[in-house]
Amino acid sequence: MYPASFRYLRPATLGEAGQLFNSASDARYVAGGQSLIPAMKQRLASPSELIDISRIPALSFIRRDGDLLAIGAGTRHADVAASAEVEGAIPALATLAGLIGDPAVRHRGTLGGSIANNDPAADYPAAVLALDAVVTTNRRNIPADLFFTGMFETALEPGEIVTQVAFRLPRRAAYMKFPNPASRYAMPGVFVAEHAHGIRVAVTGAASCVYRASELESALAERLMPETLDTVTVAAEEFTSDLFASAEYRAHLVKVMAQRAVTSMLSSRHG
Ligand SMILES: Cc1cc2nc3c(=O)[nH]c(=O)nc-3n(C[C@H](O)[C@H](O)[C@H](O)COP(=O)(O)OP(=O)(O)OC[C@H]3O[C@@H](n4cnc5c(N)ncnc54)[C@H](O)[C@@H]3O)c2cc1C
Repeated sequence: MYPASFRYLRPATLGEAGQLFNSASDARYVAGGQSLIPAMKQRLASPSELIDISRIPALSFIRRDGDLLAIGAGTRHADVAASAEVEGAIPALATLAGLIGDPAVRHRGTLGGSIANNDPAADYPAAVLALDAVVTTNRRNIPADLFFTGMFETALEPGEIVTQVAFRLPRRAAYMKFPNPASRYAMPGVFVAEHAHGIRVAVTGAASCVYRASELESALAERLMPETLDTVTVAAEEFTSDLFASAEYRAHLVKVMAQRAVTSMLSSRHG
């Protein structure tokens, strides 16, 4: 039997949200509700308490601080896409946010919700990894390389709230995705970033979890040109095969999206 109802709670502060979580029996936070509410409708999730963190002002901001761009976890995709601050610091990130879903999804969905959910085809996880970001929660800082641990799995512990993501400003960067024609999720998406300490390439929408493509990174470190990838083989063994694309087709698309990202990056002013 499904639970007949759940309690809806709306804290005003992060501290209050944490307290509500600790005193609840089976709570979930809800931000934009664009992933959790559909999951609840399909009975894939049935929390006893829904703690709405979307009205906590401290979670919504965009702030440039030296070579970092900090974005509050509650910031909506549409606000990132339209932000002059983001466009000035990391244009590829503004582009990525503008490619997520449709206007309704972008006006409700949040950065924190996207990375906490870690859908294997979500866009933001690729930016977090390629931009060597640091995820801050109400308890600690988590480097991007340790944050995404598996399909819909992250390093977050029960009750932990993502408060911000600090993206490292690259010299240049670009994101290219082949969108699913219905949902617009990536199938796949490739984020390429050139940093002072090297090239980072992150792939989403191909395997069960976002990952760094070491074979593409090493090739591009040798020569940062799209043709460099012509001779690189992207292995399909670990890739997803589904109704939309075979693993082999996804492997082909990873290479094509990476080449397009490099082309775009080389023609851009910066990030
Ligand atoms: C039709 C449709 C199309 C979409 N297309 C795309 C797409 O093209 N690309 C893409 O990337 N995404 C896409 N999405 C997903 C969308 O981006 C969601 O907004 C996002 O995945 C979840 O963000 P949210 O704020 O809605 O989170 P919610 O649905 O509110 O929450 C999702 C999960 O994250 C947890 N959570 C939320 N905020 C926090 C936080 N601050 N700290 C800790 N845990 C938290 C919740 O407890 C829940 O487990 C699509 C969704 C829909 C419905």
